[in-house]
Amino acid sequence: MSEASRATDATQGSVLVINSGSSSIKFQFVHPADGSTPASGLIERIGEPEGRIVFHHSGGDIERTLEIPDHRAGLKMLSDIVAEVGSPLDESGIIAVGHRIVHGGKVFYEPTLIDDEVVREIDRLSSLAPLHNPPNVLGLEVAREELPDVPHVGVFDTAFFHTLPAAAATYAIDRDVTREHDIRRYGFHGTSHEYVSGRAAAFLDRDPAELKQIVLHLGNGASASAIDGGTAIDTSMGLTPLEGLVMGTRSGDIDPGIVFHLRRSAGLHVDEIDNLLNRKSGLLGLSGVNDFRALRELVEKGDDDAKLAYDVYVHRLRRYIGAYLVELGGVDVVTFTGGVGENNVDVRRDSLAGLERLGIEVDAARNENGARGERRISSDGSSVEVLVIPTNEELAIARAAAKFV
Ligand code: AMP
Repeated sequence: MSEASRATDATQGSVLVINSGSSSIKFQFVHPADGSTPASGLIERIGEPEGRIVFHHSGGDIERTLEIPDHRAGLKMLSDIVAEVGSPLDESGIIAVGHRIVHGGKVFYEPTLIDDEVVREIDRLSSLAPLHNPPNVLGLEVAREELPDVPHVGVFDTAFFHTLPAAAATYAIDRDVTREHDIRRYGFHGTSHEYVSGRAAAFLDRDPAELKQIVLHLGNGASASAIDGGTAIDTSMGLTPLEGLVMGTRSGDIDPGIVFHLRRSAGLHVDEIDNLLNRKSGLLGLSGVNDFRALRELVEKGDDDAKLAYDVYVHRLRRYIGAYLVELGGVDVVTFTGGVGENNVDVRRDSLAGLERLGIEVDAARNENGARGERRISSDGSSVEVLVIPTNEELAIARAAAKFV
């Protein structure tokens, strides 16, 4: 069998999952039944003089550095690479395309089959997510051109949180203003929170309907959620992904008065404040690094700023865990996920330290043993289960999209 036909066999029956950002497109071919990924990669630095496309597949890795003028050109290059290693993209056996869409507003709270009207509606929601929805729309448009004959399905980051009770979703701001501008707490990372809470119940062999869960998605972006019987009742991100936990480069919760102060006293433009809080704050702003591994190295070298950044991060996390414990009226499972949650021993230990009276006890050896995959890290005597569950948003999106085939 030729190399080319093997590559095509591998993608046969897969879903192409696309996450289209402002200057990059991440993609993965996913088999929805078993989660295997015959190919994946990244098209990045779109619009810059030196773009890059990386394609991993069973035959090896392909990496090219070249100018990628726009999203359309990027997806065309992916299509060309797929054709080189197998068959043309539209003959490679893809059964559907799943698109990660950041903001579904109040309109979309289920995986949705994409048509022209849905694209227009997602575009209209751009005022709520100006950094995210426009590149999502671009991804939708060019992927529909490349693959016109398979269903395209939008899976929304906000969807899982459409169930938030009004008390949790409402900001105490003049009701006319919030109504006119659709201001409420929407929540993000919903696909991950839903997937991980479902996996946690399966891991414990329990019915999700019986469980009170706290999920801590700690990656470069970070969010917490409280889930009661499979339904989200609170989450830390709000109108935008800026609210809540301390993140790699985002501040999370701050006194909104800081924004006025920066505007009036420091004379910053609103875009500068936006940039400051979204891109230059969080761990990066406090310590100079946003990557947790780099932060840890600095802490180990005795860097005081890094130590403070870590302490602020953990303090905020504990505050949310405490809030959700009370909101849920007790918890059965606390689950860590995301790059930090899955890998960082210290954060897991420190965020739950000293909670034995609340029935939460992390087992040091289980926490530190370096295992991968789904695992329990609570002690046998802990009445609350503490788990680590690797998130897999691509698989969740692929499964949602496959339902439309
Ligand atoms: P994510 O956004 O989920 O990809 O997570 C990115 C974050 O996870 C970064 O802060 C990384 O430093 C952190 N991370 C990834 N792998 C590890 C690891 N092996 N140990 C500690 N932190 C990690």
